Amino acid sequence: MSLVVVGSVAYDGVETPHGTVDRMLGGAATYISLVASYFTPVKLVAVVGDDFADEDSALLSSRQVDLAGLERVAGGKTFFWSGVYSDDMNDRTTLRTDLNVFADFDPKLPDSYRAEPYLLLGNIQPALQRGVLAQMSQLKMAGGDTMNYWISDYREELLKTIAQWDFLLINDSEAQMLSGWRNLRKAAATIQAMGPRTLVIKRGEYGAVLFHGGEQFFAPGYLLEEVFDPTGAGDSFAGGFIGYLAGQGIEAKGADFAELRRAVIYGSVMGSFCCERFGVDRFRSLTREEIDGRFREFQTCTQF
Ligand code: AMP
Repeated sequence: MSLVVVGSVAYDGVETPHGTVDRMLGGAATYISLVASYFTPVKLVAVVGDDFADEDSALLSSRQVDLAGLERVAGGKTFFWSGVYSDDMNDRTTLRTDLNVFADFDPKLPDSYRAEPYLLLGNIQPALQRGVLAQMSQLKMAGGDTMNYWISDYREELLKTIAQWDFLLINDSEAQMLSGWRNLRKAAATIQAMGPRTLVIKRGEYGAVLFHGGEQFFAPGYLLEEVFDPTGAGDSFAGGFIGYLAGQGIEAKGADFAELRRAVIYGSVMGSFCCERFGVDRFRSLTREEIDGRFREFQTCTQF
């Protein structure tokens, strides 16, 4: 049972206290797809230009990601984003966003994608996210991600979009912005009333809080010895979360809270691996055994 992933495939430039990379494979949908592919088959929907390198599509193919929905625009350039991190790496400043072919992205799902049961909508314009959901006929669980820009400038569109979602992944400052509450509990209740019964509020290195119906669960962040590059950690979290649920065949309706808790831990596990190297590099060598080993570490570290 496949997971359909929609979002950006990009080239990124990143500067962290550990070094600078001018151009490397990135994009939210890239991280989500690579990560989720450890748990379930993935079908990608995105757009790139003809500068998109064969070795980059080969990396996705090597993880069996279906690229039938990866549109290539002849003569176009792939989305480029660059950013610089603060010394403690908790803050990021965007230096450049060249939308290029991403500016006209209007995701059309191949017929072979439309009956799949799982959908993860990466951070794109909310009306486009809604358009994708409308193309799918047999969803068991759908949801996604958003960002401050859509919350402030496209609020009405966004509210219509998340009203249809089973789950929303959002960071704490965005949750405050969306709900109008600083208090996490009030923020969560307000956002859940907007539609998504399952809500994950991400808190960077401090982990994440899962809200489901009236229940809550706190997932810690893994204590890495060294963070090289946090780019894509949020997307990797999302890939681990939905990838695990899809792999287990969980349906939104009647979803077991224990499975959702495990999904959040897999999210934390995958976010932590992402930070160990620049860009997607950690996923070139990561194995399922390493993932399950770190999952068990989380169990031992939090049992009492
Ligand atoms: P994260 O660190 O999880 O927020 O994800 C960073 C990734 O999101 C990078 O690889 C960027 O290429 C991608 N990205 C940055 N800005 C945007 C945007 N406006 N729309 C879609 N993707 C973006």
